[in-house]
Amino acid sequence: MTELIEKSKKHLWLPFTQMKDYEQDPLIIESGEGIKVKDIHGKKYYDGFSSVWLNVHGHRKKELDEAIKNQLEKIAHSTLLGMTNVPATELAAKLIELTPENVTRVFYSDSGAEAMEIALKMAFQYWRNIGNPKKQKFISMQNGYHGDTIGAVSIGSIDLFHHVYGALMFDCFNVPYPYVYRSDSGDATVCRDECLQGLEELLMEHHEEIAALSIESMVQGAAGMIVMPEGFLSGVRALCTKYEVLMIVDEVATGFGRTGKMFACEHEQVQPDIMAAGKGITGGYLPIAVTCTTEKVYEAFYDDYENLKTFFHGHSYTGNQLGCAVALENLRLFEAEAIVENVALKAEQLKEMLGELESLPHVGDIRQLGMMCGIELVQDKATKAPYPFEKRIGYHVSLKMRELGMLTRPMGNVIVFMPPLVSTNRELQIMVNIMKEAIEVITKEAALIGEDV
Ligand SMILES: *Cc1c(COP(=O)(O)O)cnc(C)c1O
Repeated sequence: MTELIEKSKKHLWLPFTQMKDYEQDPLIIESGEGIKVKDIHGKKYYDGFSSVWLNVHGHRKKELDEAIKNQLEKIAHSTLLGMTNVPATELAAKLIELTPENVTRVFYSDSGAEAMEIALKMAFQYWRNIGNPKKQKFISMQNGYHGDTIGAVSIGSIDLFHHVYGALMFDCFNVPYPYVYRSDSGDATVCRDECLQGLEELLMEHHEEIAALSIESMVQGAAGMIVMPEGFLSGVRALCTKYEVLMIVDEVATGFGRTGKMFACEHEQVQPDIMAAGKGITGGYLPIAVTCTTEKVYEAFYDDYENLKTFFHGHSYTGNQLGCAVALENLRLFEAEAIVENVALKAEQLKEMLGELESLPHVGDIRQLGMMCGIELVQDKATKAPYPFEKRIGYHVSLKMRELGMLTRPMGNVIVFMPPLVSTNRELQIMVNIMKEAIEVITKEAALIGEDV
């Protein structure tokens, strides 16, 4: 075991990880069962962030394991370039049943970032193909996050991740996002209306050069689980329609039941022009993502080959059979086990449990939609003064949680809680208790250190 740890320290480079931190606290997962994972020393942890926002039915779900084994008896992979395969075709049809009404076409890829990259290229080429090549620019939301490839980074705006790559990115119009807790008024309606007004002013002036707007559906995930006020997403939809700008909705984190609807845009009956999804699509098993769109967008690419309207984009593993087979079984389980309905019900109970954190002296804001939750820690609750960056308060709380038997990853000062969708009320309560204890211990320690200085 120590040998394995040495190998990991010597040869691995982990995503979004300062390897100096990893060296101090290495963790190697060996197996999983239900909503827990087990490390190589035999210590078990609640998977409090669904292995980074993916897991639905827990680990080693029998039906999902079987679906992959059964597909393996037939074939593991063949290409989707110019042909298709059985599970990719079945899955596309199933997805179209579940996605908003206007969505009719599925384009596969392997990750959320690619799905967004595809959305951007699709939107850009759409306008060229229909003879409006002036529309080339994009609108993105402040603190948006859509993945880590250069296109996705260009429409993203989380300074900590994105600033370094500034020179590589294409320019976007970046508009304010309604972060109610940190808005001047602190009022959801005022904050929403100001943001919508800002967007409309931009559209009025620039819509002729704008191809599309990108937005995370209902909740900004990586920004710190920021739930948008009611009426914002539908307001954005209305403005996109009015000013003839395609609306790209990123459902990578929020899709597949996470927020208590199959897709979060259903909370506001929003019909996107292009929708990206991934993460929960395979129940957290294999890398499949999709970019779904309407017949109108699709038709703009449909022509004789010589007219050069083809969408020249694809990946080696696009439409992988093993991934599509497990995604199909995942979606069957969604129906058989009423996953979405149960998330909506359990979210009510979870809200009460999270309410227990409210009285803690350094819990500033608790945000939740379905089973997507963020707890923003602040140095001073009255003034909402944030903890300084160097304190790494979220990181230390998460390390404490790990010690107490639960895994999650913070976003700065926001503790992320995204348990697998099948977590029971009892399991949710245990995880909330762990969170509470870790927050109490670490914020108390931080306060003591603060006094010493
Ligand atoms: C995770 C995420 C992505 C990127 O997905 P990957 O599969 O990690 O590339 C894009 N958008 C949102 C909203 C996400 O949460």
